[in-house]
Amino acid sequence: MNLHEYQGKEILASFGVRIQRGIVALNPKEAVDAAKKLTEDTGTGWHVIKAQVHAGGRGKGGGVKLAKNLKEVEEISSQIIGMNLITPQTSAEGKKVHQVLIAEDVYYPGDSETSEFYMSVLLNRATGKNMIMYSTEGGMDIEEVAENTPHLIFTEEIDPATGLLGFQARKIAFNLGLSGTAFKEMTKFVASLYKAYVESDSSMFEINPVLKTSDDKIMAVDAKVSIDDNALYRRKQYAEMRDLREENPIEVEAGALGLNYVDLDGNVGCMVNGAGLAMATMDLIKMAGGEPANFLDVGGTADAKRVEEAFRIILKDDGVKAILVNIFGGIVRCDRVANGIVEAYKNMGDAIKVPIIVRLQGTNAEIAKEIIDNSGLAVHSAVQFQEAADKVKEVLS
Ligand code: GDP
Ligand code: MN
Repeated sequence: MNLHEYQGKEILASFGVRIQRGIVALNPKEAVDAAKKLTEDTGTGWHVIKAQVHAGGRGKGGGVKLAKNLKEVEEISSQIIGMNLITPQTSAEGKKVHQVLIAEDVYYPGDSETSEFYMSVLLNRATGKNMIMYSTEGGMDIEEVAENTPHLIFTEEIDPATGLLGFQARKIAFNLGLSGTAFKEMTKFVASLYKAYVESDSSMFEINPVLKTSDDKIMAVDAKVSIDDNALYRRKQYAEMRDLREENPIEVEAGALGLNYVDLDGNVGCMVNGAGLAMATMDLIKMAGGEPANFLDVGGTADAKRVEEAFRIILKDDGVKAILVNIFGGIVRCDRVANGIVEAYKNMGDAIKVPIIVRLQGTNAEIAKEIIDNSGLAVHSAVQFQEAADKVKEVLS
């Protein structure tokens, strides 16, 4: 589950990570009030107005702007709130901005003593360890740095059994070229950042930029935080931070129905039981010259109601040109699933305009095939995997 910058910063601050302070605002009036409050609290005269959407590269898309007085705070926030922000990380349509973060300006004018670093904490799946990735080249496209000057990105692996060790934090501060107060501040920053990552059950923290101010403070100016979905049951305070407006609406709807659905770009919708079979089915579709339009695991109970819900979800995606149903009847018998499919099809009337290929394998597979073949509906049945692939190819051509 991804969070907004202001929510990520809230979490960081709660673990003692220094952040660029800010207040979230829903409209220009709130923005001005927030700016006044920040001036009282921090003494800042200038403010940065930052669009809160789940996408990076906001600066490049005009979603991060500096305001030098309250009038500019009002003007800029009325510009940004409600805009469709297009960044290198959004789709071509962009993302609607519902709120802005009014933040203290932490880059003092004409200041050459500030530096922007990059730092992220994430899991290295290959080694089973956490890692901190960091670079002196922060503030800009880290992807570009990784592409052109990969030697400028450092990685520090952390054994979850020992946690971050003191020498590791010092090594990071050293490699970032720091000394004196800034060095000490950085070791504290790294330690609290790592603690926040572990104790919030996050799967990713990305802080770009981490700023060294001219008075040698180290702080998070941006925060991209992703909490592990599987931990949300025990992190209720973070689960509440979920903003459904930022998520794919079809996925949200499927989630509410208890369907494991991931939207993809292809043309063949799939309805499968079991994640492994779903992956294999996606391979099958590719081998047949198609592209999967989704990943969908309907789970163990493939009855008529569930099959119908799944069809409706799959068909919300306009790109779907055919549907492949691939269900293994182990506990659930194939004939029951077949009846479910026929019933769902009839219930949906002409909502289904694309060809459907059904492969049922397992208990009572032959009876199931008969039910499908005798239904009189535009459903193609298959028993073997290859047969299903051939039929996908046939209907796509
Ligand atoms: P992103 O573009 O979505 O990654 O958003 P960021 O929060 O990283 O902000 C983009 C850029 O805005 C940063 O790299 C900074 O250069 C700039 N920025 C952020 N905060 C301040 C600030 O307090 N003052 C000034 N002058 N610039 C800032
Ligand atoms: Mn950033």
